[in-house]
Amino acid sequence: MAAERAGSGGGRSRKVAKKRDHDFVTGTSYAPAPESSAQVKIAKSYDLFIGGKWVKGSKRMKTINPATEKVLSEVAVAGPKEVDLAVKAARKAYNNVWKKMPGRERGKYLFRVARLLQERAREFAVLESMDGGKPIRESRDVDLPLVAAHFFYHAGWADKLDYAFPGRKPQSLGVAGQVIPWNFPLLMAAWKLAPALACGNTVVLKPAETTPLTALLLAQVFEEAGLPDGVVNIVTGAGATGQALVEHPGVDKIAFTGSTGVGKMIQRALAKSGKKHTLELGGKAAHLIFDDAPINQAVEGIVNGIFFNQGHVCCAGSRLLVQEGVADLVIRKLKRRMETLVVGDPLDKNTDVGAINSKEQLGRIKGLVAAGEKEGACSWQSGQRLPGKGYWFKPTIFTDCAQSHRVVQEEIFGPVLAIQTFRTPEEGIEKANNTPYGLSGGVWTDKGSKIFKVTSAMRAGVLWANTYNKFDPTSPFGGYKESGVGREGGLHGLAAYLEI
Ligand code: NAP
Ligand code: MG
Repeated sequence: MAAERAGSGGGRSRKVAKKRDHDFVTGTSYAPAPESSAQVKIAKSYDLFIGGKWVKGSKRMKTINPATEKVLSEVAVAGPKEVDLAVKAARKAYNNVWKKMPGRERGKYLFRVARLLQERAREFAVLESMDGGKPIRESRDVDLPLVAAHFFYHAGWADKLDYAFPGRKPQSLGVAGQVIPWNFPLLMAAWKLAPALACGNTVVLKPAETTPLTALLLAQVFEEAGLPDGVVNIVTGAGATGQALVEHPGVDKIAFTGSTGVGKMIQRALAKSGKKHTLELGGKAAHLIFDDAPINQAVEGIVNGIFFNQGHVCCAGSRLLVQEGVADLVIRKLKRRMETLVVGDPLDKNTDVGAINSKEQLGRIKGLVAAGEKEGACSWQSGQRLPGKGYWFKPTIFTDCAQSHRVVQEEIFGPVLAIQTFRTPEEGIEKANNTPYGLSGGVWTDKGSKIFKVTSAMRAGVLWANTYNKFDPTSPFGGYKESGVGREGGLHGLAAYLEI
């Protein structure tokens, strides 16, 4: 079916849409409010952080700003030799220093790191937005506060592990190999490093190829905090670097966050190795909106869940299941809200939807959207003008979706929402659960009893009611089915870094 791409009434011509900027509903546009990048000093090139020293890699790779396609820096690529060096440095630091150190001393380092991150929060947020394309509002107001919170929370546990697991003698595991994705580069690093270190493990961390810079700045914070050499090692590179780390026999535990496809490869590689592992993988979360829901609040939740941060969120509410009686109203309000989203410069404080992280990811999104159109779903996009340079995708919805459509079943990881309707709670739950994933979901209703009934039947690790995308380090996080193995955060997350 041909895509319907005009304004909310369905009939606006492209010509009219082009004349206005930003807000097609009110006709207003915002004055640019760019965050300064003056406090960020990006070096021409970065080496690997191994054993407290900066070590040359086997090759170099470029990292770009996806909003401008400009090269930001060159970063070392760790080959098997450098990964081996890093694992050995981590082992040495584990045996000689970190394993023996009392929990309260380890905690002090983590508190120090947390405070330094708070002090340098703006610098980190700007760098994160430059390297990854996410809106500064997101990196400044969501990522950085959560990053500090993860270090603070786990710092507090470092000397209380015996109380966390009463009657047990929790022991650290040894060297943890950690591989993280590009959608929350610094937050995923904090999410992985803080519990590992609090529990007395040392770490080799592999950031994503397209977003290595904040992890390397974090290495500088570890230096500033005086963290003993080798306790954290950072090896940049692409998939092969991650693979070398996963397969290294000197690693005791693998913590991975990324796609289900790579997660499955890792699980195969780890079979029979005896290494512990936690895998946080993809998702295809559904919002269930009932006819008694607070509709405006729900629309805001949907927008937050899939369009802010370009849908680059594992928990992204990429499916909307709306009860038939309110479907037209919800879709009408949603389209109107989509027209008011500000798409563009990630460093502009008004921006809601930033740049797509890479050319490859943009290609993937375009491919799946084309598949949706080919399979017969009806697409609609808001009318924003996109910048000429960089990687961008307009907020997009699909209606008339069948359960079997690829846009309903597959993770798109872009600002694309597939909408379906349901009549009874049972039908809604059935549809929500009918994907290979089970990471997260949202329920919108006025009735507390319905919230309990529906959330207990939904097969998802994280569920929000009348809100969306709220995170806290005290809360365990993780998926069912193909969304992962194990939990991170809270006591469950500590347990994953300990022999109890
Ligand atoms: P990805 O392609 O799976 O990559 C994740 C990380 O693994 C990257 O550092 C990647 O390196 C590395 N890698 C690639 N191949 C590898 C291999 N064979 N062995 C070991 N490591 C390998 O995922 P992504 O595209 O970066 O991130 C998006 C995905 O992450 C989505 O599916 C999203 O749902 C998921 N995610 C899940 C959670 C969660 O908590 N459940 C949170 C955030 C994201 P390169 O960067 O060089 O490819
Ligand atoms: Mg980049």
